[in-house]
Amino acid sequence: MGDWFQTIVDKDVSAQNAQALAANVLDWLISTGVVVAERDDCVLGAESGHRPGPAVATVVASTAGDSSFRDLWTNGLAIVAERSVFDAGQGDPIAVSCPRCDSTTRMVDDCYELIPEVWELFGTGIHAWEEGRDDVAVTCPSCAQRVEPADWIWADDYFALGHLGFRFWNWPPFRPDFLAEFGRRLGDHRIALVEGKL
Ligand SMILES: [Zn+2]
Repeated sequence: MGDWFQTIVDKDVSAQNAQALAANVLDWLISTGVVVAERDDCVLGAESGHRPGPAVATVVASTAGDSSFRDLWTNGLAIVAERSVFDAGQGDPIAVSCPRCDSTTRMVDDCYELIPEVWELFGTGIHAWEEGRDDVAVTCPSCAQRVEPADWIWADDYFALGHLGFRFWNWPPFRPDFLAEFGRRLGDHRIALVEGKL
């Protein structure tokens, strides 16, 4: 059995503001009892994180009395406040939509194999962005407008590019009102919910 994660990604915060916003949101999560203030070794891919707090049941979907994720070793929140390509970890991206014209481009064929020439178009832009370039853009196959890599909308939020992400390990799905409040705490920025398994 792998470890499941959900990452709430802020798609709009600047690199300069990411650390301060991360601290604000963490204060909110601690003060409301969603996570504990202490840090320990409870996440993957980072040294330490914050375990669920006493009020965690108010923000996740009901698990029919099963609170077993609280007993797991890996059940913490890790905050990533640096330029990152957040991804679902497994499988392939299925499709991507243009924020300008709303048209959807399939990334896979009928057998769910990546279409190399389509993937190359987007993958090149994502890698360039990840390396720190802000001047890259991917030309939309439908409307021919140039769209920055971070602005594309990936099916199922397979990818999200940004400078701030909150990765929760092995938590049940979030309640919609919690996600809505999370978005408000992020200054009404666009958010993505990247879910996956390692
Ligand atoms: Zn377009």
